Amino acid sequence: MPTITPSLEILRHTFGYEQFRAPQEEVIATLMSGQDALVLMPTGGGKSLCYQIPAIARPGAGVVISPLIALMEDQVNALRQAGVAAAALNSSIQPREIRETEEALRSGQLDLLYIAPERLLQDRTLRLLQQCQINLFAIDEAHCVSQWGHDFRPEYLQLKVLHERFPAIPRIALTATADPKTRLEIIERLGLQRARIFTRSFDRPNIRYHIHSSSQGARNALLRFIRDRHDGEAGIVYCLSRKRVEEIAAWLQTEGLDALPYHAGLSADERRRHQQRFQRDESVIIVATIAFGMGIDKPNVRFVAHLNLPKSIEAYYQETGRAGRDGLPAEAWMHYGLQDVVQLRQMIQQSEADQQRKQMEGQKLDAMLALCETTQCRRQTLLSYFGETLALPCGNCDNCLTPPATWDATVAAQKALSAVHRTGQRFGVQYLVDVLLARDDPRIQQWGHHQLRVYGIGKELSANAWRALFRHLLLRGLVEVDSEGHGGLRLSPLSRPILRGEQTLTLRQHENTQSQKKEKVQE
Ligand code: ADP
Ligand code: ZN
Repeated sequence: MPTITPSLEILRHTFGYEQFRAPQEEVIATLMSGQDALVLMPTGGGKSLCYQIPAIARPGAGVVISPLIALMEDQVNALRQAGVAAAALNSSIQPREIRETEEALRSGQLDLLYIAPERLLQDRTLRLLQQCQINLFAIDEAHCVSQWGHDFRPEYLQLKVLHERFPAIPRIALTATADPKTRLEIIERLGLQRARIFTRSFDRPNIRYHIHSSSQGARNALLRFIRDRHDGEAGIVYCLSRKRVEEIAAWLQTEGLDALPYHAGLSADERRRHQQRFQRDESVIIVATIAFGMGIDKPNVRFVAHLNLPKSIEAYYQETGRAGRDGLPAEAWMHYGLQDVVQLRQMIQQSEADQQRKQMEGQKLDAMLALCETTQCRRQTLLSYFGETLALPCGNCDNCLTPPATWDATVAAQKALSAVHRTGQRFGVQYLVDVLLARDDPRIQQWGHHQLRVYGIGKELSANAWRALFRHLLLRGLVEVDSEGHGGLRLSPLSRPILRGEQTLTLRQHENTQSQKKEKVQE
């Protein structure tokens, strides 16, 4: 019979779980033996227990550095409910409570102290810690030391003082970012050269990925997906806006599905009720903005659907990761349109952020779009983004199951780009499509564009097919959205080789490029 270690005892009695997940037990043993650790594990993987258990098991208190005050409070509350002596020090806490916490720490009554980095770094705090018995330092969200990451916190760079001032106390750094560059930065900047490194794969083999794009029909496609594949099962449908959440939830209800809305505009009471029904019942569908998900731990979510494009692969991974926590087959399904790309690009361009940040957000969006447009295995593409290599195509994504057809879109792209150019690089997709198809539109007459060479040169494709093509051009950065925010398109430097015939363009064949005939009949 396996012996019950003190750690396992705490896992069972304090946290109520039967077994450790890999690599929790080894991480805990590493810290208990006084050695440093670096833990790279996806969100939801169970990083917190890696430091909570040794902090409880050893004499003294564990100090957890966390940049997110809201999450800090959640953790402290949950720990207190489990009977653990936990407290937090941050700017939102009253002076009286701070004094009490400091007193508890001095007298050795605390197990875990959560602290914001800026407070930890105050000389006063460091002196206090030197007078107390500290059993470990946990540096959560350790990727915040990376200057190139999107969560950079300058204070994190100073956390090296922990190593200098407390050389004998083991440290553990944790993050859900796995790319090799960030990993090296963490080791270097936090002085973790001697740390044991623990990684767990980001792969979620039981999740099947599907990504579709088209300009319309998302709702019906969603309904078909739910009815055909997830009848009577629990799922989450993500939308970008509150208004859309309300619309989709109401519509699914009229279609006879048990759907509930969830967004920050609902009353606290409604949100709690909807969340509880989702958590408790078997077959509730939550239609939500991305506000939904933090702190949700429902194991049998069978599908996560996106009706919009997430703004990064990190966001996509985190949101889809809420499906299939029980390890049983689950699906991540997404349907996005051209409008999403235009909207997200505009949001980035018009935000208050500085140039460097905008550029980074643009690159994140590009990576997301590359995942959408790839004809390769989705899982391989996804994992390679996180710095992981999957040797073979997975056999459990749309591209593996039904290899996408491709077509040579060079000539069509030349026509589309010429239309952008000839009309003066300031019209939106709809207008350009009207020009290519020689639609009878007073605006075209007014601008004199019916006299252009590009007028009517696109009749071999349907309007939908042209819209899909413009979406590709945007995705690939061959055209750009104007910065005034009217949705007008202009050429980018990348479009030249295509226009000159020096480069060809091979594209995924989308449903709506294939269905051109059908639409022609309808028109
Ligand atoms: P992370 O910090 O990696 O995102 P958490 O530490 O918040 O993940 O853990 C995610 C969820 O998994 C939590 O609800 C946690 O209670 C649960 N969990 C962690 N370890 C175990 C385990 N050994 N057995 C069962 N559930 C666990
Ligand atoms: Zn695959």
